[in-house]
Amino acid sequence: MSLDPRYKMAGNRAERLLDELGKNVLPIDPFVIAEDREIMVKSKEFDTAGVSGCLLKVDDSFGIMYATHIKNEGFIRFTVAHELGHYFLPGHVDTLFINRKLHYSQSNFVSADPFELEADHFAASLLMPSRLFLRETRRAGEGFGAINSLAETFKTSITATGIRFATYAEDPVAIIISKNDRIHYCFMSEAIKELKGIGWIKKGDLIPKSSKTYDFNSDINNITSSRVAESITTLDDWFEGAPAVEMNEDVVGLGSYGKTLTVLFTNEALENEDEDEWL
Ligand SMILES: [Zn+2]
Repeated sequence: MSLDPRYKMAGNRAERLLDELGKNVLPIDPFVIAEDREIMVKSKEFDTAGVSGCLLKVDDSFGIMYATHIKNEGFIRFTVAHELGHYFLPGHVDTLFINRKLHYSQSNFVSADPFELEADHFAASLLMPSRLFLRETRRAGEGFGAINSLAETFKTSITATGIRFATYAEDPVAIIISKNDRIHYCFMSEAIKELKGIGWIKKGDLIPKSSKTYDFNSDINNITSSRVAESITTLDDWFEGAPAVEMNEDVVGLGSYGKTLTVLFTNEALENEDEDEWL
């Protein structure tokens, strides 16, 4: 997995911690880990939009608060795990609490701040440790069905599970989060990343008009009612310069989160189109 070393290290720290604490049993419970360190965890209403939670430090005591507006159990657990990341990752407490008693977080891979992202990678690895996640991924099937069943096994949110699924999938998989006609972000499995000369999706790119996702997003009820749809698309509709391989397209409304998750997947191997040609 070609991940930035500092994020990889954050994930490794979480997995080592689970070994140290002997808490490698599914589903991993971040509340129990907090209790183990005498960190109090409570819910709290935050005035600032986008804040998922915070870590509080008073002298040598710590507390975690997660936002009351979060109604999703998986996201609450991720938020608590993210705050534990700030507590356990080297350098975080020293940096985040200079002249401050509170660190406010935006968890779940929405922030560009490296400390936030490190804590997100810590949280993902804490709740979905790689060895167990790989084992479960291999027997979970494919597409949204697999992500949904993994989210139940690990008690994690659909988005966090989807991102992890794309990272560990051995087949070509892309997870795309979108709203209206725009893409917010995309995570790809190695099989897609390895394709030479393809244009990667960027934040703010338009959703291809030929896709099911484009249709789906034109009716807000699809998103608020958490509807599910499926179709067929081609890889080059989404990634410029990619081979015109047929991909399954599962589309899911993410309810009150207001966004849509798209899973593109196939179990066919992808090849660069000119790979087998005579030069
Ligand atoms: Zn944070």
